[in-house]
Amino acid sequence: MPLKTSWVATANSAETPFPLNNLPYGVFSTDGTEARCGVAIGDMILDMAAAEESGLIALADDPLFDVPYWNDLMAQGPAVWAALRERLTALLEEGSEARETVEPLLVPMAQATLHMPFMVSEYTDFYAGRHHATNIGTMFRGAENALPPNWLHIPIGYNGRASSVVVSDTPVRRPWGQLKGPNDDKPRFAPCARFDLELEMGAIVGVDSDGPITVQEADNNIFGYVLLNDWSARDIQAWEYQPLGPFQAKATATTISPWIVTKPALDPFRVDAPAREFELLDHLKDVGPMLYDIDLEVTLAPDGKPATTIARTNYKEMYYSSAQQLAHHTTAGSPMNVGDLLGSGTISGPEKTQRGSLIELSWGGKEPVQLDTGETRNFLEDGDTLTLHGSARGDGYTIGFGPCAGKILPALDDPYKR
Ligand code: MN
Repeated sequence: MPLKTSWVATANSAETPFPLNNLPYGVFSTDGTEARCGVAIGDMILDMAAAEESGLIALADDPLFDVPYWNDLMAQGPAVWAALRERLTALLEEGSEARETVEPLLVPMAQATLHMPFMVSEYTDFYAGRHHATNIGTMFRGAENALPPNWLHIPIGYNGRASSVVVSDTPVRRPWGQLKGPNDDKPRFAPCARFDLELEMGAIVGVDSDGPITVQEADNNIFGYVLLNDWSARDIQAWEYQPLGPFQAKATATTISPWIVTKPALDPFRVDAPAREFELLDHLKDVGPMLYDIDLEVTLAPDGKPATTIARTNYKEMYYSSAQQLAHHTTAGSPMNVGDLLGSGTISGPEKTQRGSLIELSWGGKEPVQLDTGETRNFLEDGDTLTLHGSARGDGYTIGFGPCAGKILPALDDPYKR
């Protein structure tokens, strides 16, 4: 499918992350106005609250867009999602008769502040990248025990906290935590010294379910995707993770990119999962291409200095799709709700430069990562800005996500000081 042309001139280049083919959903405000829903097109945002108010978009009896989240639209279901995309395309395409009415409702992106695009109902994070799991397992348990016996049969996950999910550009404070001392019986409480990123994609559930659903139903229920950084305190994690998995190591923050890229925008980039070593059980079997060919990149900029690309990989490196993760999530009966967020798990490729976390890139701190500034990193330093980038390359167009960034603030002197 080629570039769809729009009367918004900046939407018509091969490089813009937001051509008419994309139409991602965000929440924005400008000086003195309330946060509300918007759609990115080129370097502009279509004010959806204003478009609905003026009658240009009428999808439901009650207003859907004069609120700082997309959950109300999601709750309308897939038929309304499709109707909205069709309507937006008609309003913004080259030659649209609505141009005169729509043009005054565009806000320059440069003048807008972006907010969380949806209310996160619950947050689950998975561990479903084979290269990542093999690397981490090798470091923690040795090469022979790298992948636990269950790993090739189920997507491993843990229930995280919706309350700590933040939007790109929110600063992240280095946490304190309980760390292993020289002896296992003498831990200490100190600022995290091995603070790390995890390059992931987040899938957003757009349809409620109650009880087990199939992989195909799960794929149908996914509304869209964001970039996701699962900030991780490796020293806290190493001490706490057995026997129930990560807890405080993952509780500081999870950053997502500000634009929800919808499933139809990504459809042309669907790819099959990698070859399976063991056949999956029926309820998790692949039923079509449900991964996506999305180029991913991680950049690190020390305070006030230029950024270095420290990793490049692709979402198609995952072993399990978000649809398989969502299907697995429901097998024991757990209801899923509109606004549930599923982290893919860290996305690493087979090569050393394709690793999606610093613990892998520096091999546990043994092989420092070289930055273009001349500095090196084993883990994140105070003042570092870490940014995830994602884009799918089509025929003369790009589907971009917008950056997913966070700057590391120093730990507090005493987190219990009142
Ligand atoms: Mn993770």
